[in-house]
Amino acid sequence: MMNTNLSDRVNQMATSATLAMAAKARELKEQGQSIIGLSLGEPDFTVPDFVKDAAIQAINDNYHAYSPVDGYPALKKAIQHKFKRDNGLDYGPDQIVVSTGAKQSLANLAQVLLNEGDEVLLPAPYWVSYADIAKVAGGIPVEIQASIDTDFKITPQDLENAITPKTKMMIYSSPCNPSGSVYSKKELRALADVLIKYPDIVVISDEIYEHINFSGGHYSMAQFEDMYERTVTVNGVSKAFAMTGWRIGYIGAPKYIARACNKMQGQVTSGANCIAQMATVKALETPPQAIQYMVDAFKERRTLILNLLAEIPGFKTNIPEGAFYVFPDISYYIGRSISGRQINSAGDFALFLLEKTGVATVTGEAFGDPNCIRISYAAAESDIKEAMSRIKTLLSAS
Ligand code: PMP
Ligand code: GLU
Repeated sequence: MMNTNLSDRVNQMATSATLAMAAKARELKEQGQSIIGLSLGEPDFTVPDFVKDAAIQAINDNYHAYSPVDGYPALKKAIQHKFKRDNGLDYGPDQIVVSTGAKQSLANLAQVLLNEGDEVLLPAPYWVSYADIAKVAGGIPVEIQASIDTDFKITPQDLENAITPKTKMMIYSSPCNPSGSVYSKKELRALADVLIKYPDIVVISDEIYEHINFSGGHYSMAQFEDMYERTVTVNGVSKAFAMTGWRIGYIGAPKYIARACNKMQGQVTSGANCIAQMATVKALETPPQAIQYMVDAFKERRTLILNLLAEIPGFKTNIPEGAFYVFPDISYYIGRSISGRQINSAGDFALFLLEKTGVATVTGEAFGDPNCIRISYAAAESDIKEAMSRIKTLLSAS
């Protein structure tokens, strides 16, 4: 809501649609309604015991004080090892900054790299917060639209067409939130061949879903030698280790960018939570096979939800190769009246589903695609089945 006593900056900012929908679902649940929350992307698993034990150990070892702003040396060493082990990337300690979630890593990057009016390329659909993180730093989001027909991936020509002398940054996630699409090495190389012609563009590669990948291959933009110095690799433990509330994210970056993020963070929040940092050392030292049971479960749920969605009239869905979302195109319903209710947008449709079935999803508009809704399947199988059954019953009757 607009309040003239507040800054233009915050007045112009959108509320995070994922968090808003989750809050609304929570509120309805508290009122006694039967709500199934498929809006928020957070694993329903608990934190693995070996990570919990490391946190308890850190408390008992009396970790309590401010950590270095950019993270404990032990954690940076674990991150350095992780980048090498999983991505073949060499990042030294002075190229790594630990933050309070990957969200803060992204916010730092926007603050230190963007000037007023700089354009930020967002292959769409994109993660909900990219646009506002860029805007609040003075950037102008420029969407590059991809659709379900191209598996929600942009082509090199799309990228070339969007670049202007004002382009400063491109942010993308692979595996992608919300589409689940994964860019192959070949596809990334083709995008890199365009980007390499524009030395002022910094690429932010958000790899937070790296391990939740069913296609088998994860490639990092920074692995291309010619892109290494102009790419920042963003990652974190929220998704892979079910540590969303522990709030640890990190970057591997060119030194001058890491230094700037350190400076920015030092004035805004300081070092991330010290206990969570020590727990993250253990998480990252552990080979990713230790979390394979979660990935396997997400894969089974993906099959389940895709089969159930196929039975729902008017939904068109790609096969997500990673993350834990489906992003069906529901444009069939836009402009129609369902059960006497006029649906004029994906937002109307998501609200209609919530009110009539109690299933919370998120409108695709927030992700830069007004034809879609996002459904998180990081939920119990029984909830997925019940949710899809309620939606099918509602839409089959209309
Ligand atoms: N990037 C993407 C693509 C995400 O989905 C999320 C969601 N949490 C984040 C970044 C931020 O993660 P964190 O919990 O580490 O702040
Ligand atoms: N990243 C998750 C999502 O997209 C968590 C919510 C958020 O941080 O926006 O749902």
